[in-house]
Amino acid sequence: MTPKIQSVRGMNDILPDEAEFWDMFEETIRSWLKSYGYRPIRLPIVEPTPLFKRAIGEVTDIVEKEMYSFVDSLNGEALTLRPEGTAGCVRAVIQHSLLAQQPQRLYYLGQMFRHERPQKGRYRQFHQVGVEAFGFSGPDIDAEQILMGARLWDDLGLDGISLQLNTLGQPAERAQHRAELIAYFEQHRELLDEDGRRRLYSNPLRILDTKNPDLQQLIAAAPRLTDHLGAESLAHFEGVQQALRDAGQTFTINPRLVRGLDYYNLTVFEWVTDRLGAQGTVCAGGRYDGLLQQLGGRAAPACGFAMGVERLITLIREAGGETRAAAVDVYLVHQGTNASRLAARVAEGLRDRGIDVLFHCGGGSFKTQMKKADASGASFAVIIGDDEADAGEVTLKPLRTTGDRPNQQKRVGVDVVADEIMNSILDRDDS
Ligand code: ATP
Ligand code: MG
Repeated sequence: MTPKIQSVRGMNDILPDEAEFWDMFEETIRSWLKSYGYRPIRLPIVEPTPLFKRAIGEVTDIVEKEMYSFVDSLNGEALTLRPEGTAGCVRAVIQHSLLAQQPQRLYYLGQMFRHERPQKGRYRQFHQVGVEAFGFSGPDIDAEQILMGARLWDDLGLDGISLQLNTLGQPAERAQHRAELIAYFEQHRELLDEDGRRRLYSNPLRILDTKNPDLQQLIAAAPRLTDHLGAESLAHFEGVQQALRDAGQTFTINPRLVRGLDYYNLTVFEWVTDRLGAQGTVCAGGRYDGLLQQLGGRAAPACGFAMGVERLITLIREAGGETRAAAVDVYLVHQGTNASRLAARVAEGLRDRGIDVLFHCGGGSFKTQMKKADASGASFAVIIGDDEADAGEVTLKPLRTTGDRPNQQKRVGVDVVADEIMNSILDRDDS
């Protein structure tokens, strides 16, 4: 037998039962974003490799070991499957001068690729909703973006997601802290793991972000950036906190929150749940004022966040959220040449009225067709045999019992079947 070809490890198919649920999730996401004035942007999945090296940082987990990079065999260009969306979004904003006239609130939704060890909540192809605001420098936008999360958890029926907040200050402030951190970790060199020793001089801040439990004690006692923050950075941080308090949003300040990408400054935040085991961060973001200039654009303030769609969907399903989209309204059963031709016209007529129709294909007896109609979950079967066709009528059969009304089928004229169905749907939705 020919061997089967399987999907790539860590890259999952999303089958129809689940994909319908994703569609509903995406609808919620889009209307939530619209309610804050965010507009969609669609970006390529493949970008030039130097974009990510420059944006995310050479000495980060993502760039060092998680990127799917390859050389385009046709022209030798170094390309990478995007591991995150901010870099590409900033590239597009610069390339198309989107900030020339006004600030921008943008979002995108789609696949990201990272070569990580697959486990629950961690995949090699996963999806993010990315939300970015360009051209706003005050703490008000940081707070708005954070509070957007709270509204979404509510819209999605999720609770138990808590907010962690930190500030990374500005590059000069970080440089002082960095020197102190290096000195501290040098003193305790023997306690560091291999990654830590390797990063000691290249990126000591990243050591604070390690997932290695053996290092947590060492990290807890490390010098804090807060001690190096100037008045402006402190005021920005205080502004964000004030807005959160005004909105009644509780949060925890976590000085160890540093994020796995190098482009952040000032505000960073994560929304975290303890219901997903080790993969508990469902949303993460912050300010990245330096990135536009770093990628060759004119300097402009920016902040944003990304949400892990798989993790959110797991949470919603575990919370017992609605996991199936509504089935079609009508299953169209038909047999006989004239009947089938009439049925095709009836189906299109119903769709003209906004009624969803599953048209039976493949023939078969009325009995087998009716079985399929039942299994489809449709609310009605519309049945057309030669008898009905000759009379210019259809048989309308409710397939779901609604309230105490009898489930009786009836013959109705071809031109009123849509009205009959619409009325029953309205009745049903009222009761
Ligand atoms: P982690 O610390 O879990 O590796 P990260 O800091 O690398 O996360 P970000 O780059 O901030 O993650 O991405 C934002 C969000 O995208 C994460 O909070 C998470 O919900 C989701 N995410 C990141 N990597 C993966 C992955 N490999 N599989 C599924 N979701 C992911
Ligand atoms: Mg990661």
